[in-house]
Amino acid sequence: MAQQLIPADDFLKLTLDNPLGLAPFEFTLANGLAVKVWDSGVISFEPAGQTTEDVVLSCGVHGNETAPIEICAAIVQDILAGRLVVNVRLLVLFGNPPAINAGTREITENLNRLFSGHHSKGAGLINAERQRAKALEQYVSQFYQRLPVTESATGNRSLYDLHTAIRGSRFEKFAVYPYLHGKPWRQAEFAFLAACDVYTVLLMQTPASTFSYYASNEHGANSFTIELGKVKPFGQNDMARFAKADSSLRALIYNKPVKSGAFDHNKFNMYQVYRSIIKQTQDFTLHFADDIENFTSYPPGSLLATDGDIEYRVEKEGEALIFPNANVAVGQRAMLMVVPSSVMDNLQ
Ligand SMILES: [Zn+2]
Repeated sequence: MAQQLIPADDFLKLTLDNPLGLAPFEFTLANGLAVKVWDSGVISFEPAGQTTEDVVLSCGVHGNETAPIEICAAIVQDILAGRLVVNVRLLVLFGNPPAINAGTREITENLNRLFSGHHSKGAGLINAERQRAKALEQYVSQFYQRLPVTESATGNRSLYDLHTAIRGSRFEKFAVYPYLHGKPWRQAEFAFLAACDVYTVLLMQTPASTFSYYASNEHGANSFTIELGKVKPFGQNDMARFAKADSSLRALIYNKPVKSGAFDHNKFNMYQVYRSIIKQTQDFTLHFADDIENFTSYPPGSLLATDGDIEYRVEKEGEALIFPNANVAVGQRAMLMVVPSSVMDNLQ
């Protein structure tokens, strides 16, 4: 019985009690659902009948981003208790259990900069985050392996990597759509994002070391980094703000037609990256308030940052800033500048 193997059906607690690893085990629920625990923070569900959808939900890639962890923990608990019926193959990942325990974004390195093999570059697998990135890649590969990567399969694979931002945002919720190497943006996915109350999308034009780009690029998954709001400690999240994301994820798991809604591009704020500002020296300084919201824009010519002799000013009308962080290491991205964009010329 699930009750003995996963006490109180609380897989998050089991994970956080065993942050460095769990020996695999499996069992079947009374409703026929096969449950497999692969590792700490890694659990899959496979219904007895035929399924066509392979869904990966991940949270806690940044350990202090609590709202998505609470959402996923409740979903897993409801599945184990038989309250939520699963009609897709589902893999749920709690990304960085030691960092969740520590209540910090990371222990030594940003896990979401280590995918697509970046974990093994440079110094190699020298810390727990690098090892975890490699393991998560292997789990995702193993999960998707059932179907070969073909055009026909790609519509059936998805990965939603759920985050909350460090700072407030002019648009509370937004998604990052990984670079598709020229393939069309998918209407059905925008319909799903809208169902999750996410109407702001950053369309990437270059490869990245993120988990969502990895799933998109390596596995042809419809994959997104979804920022659901601002970071708060456990128990302090106003879960009503996440109600639409939560109910849409549950509908996806039940295999309701949650991606078939009409796509109205006028409701969306689409952005693309205009430039990435890299910290060159220790003198890098941001010239706006620390608590500035993501997607804030200033008139052209406004001074954004200085870095030694370099001045960064707004260059384009509508140019907006996201993820500013002067405290990154030299050589890392200190800020991303984005401009309004559209998907209408390459939409499927
Ligand atoms: Zn995050």
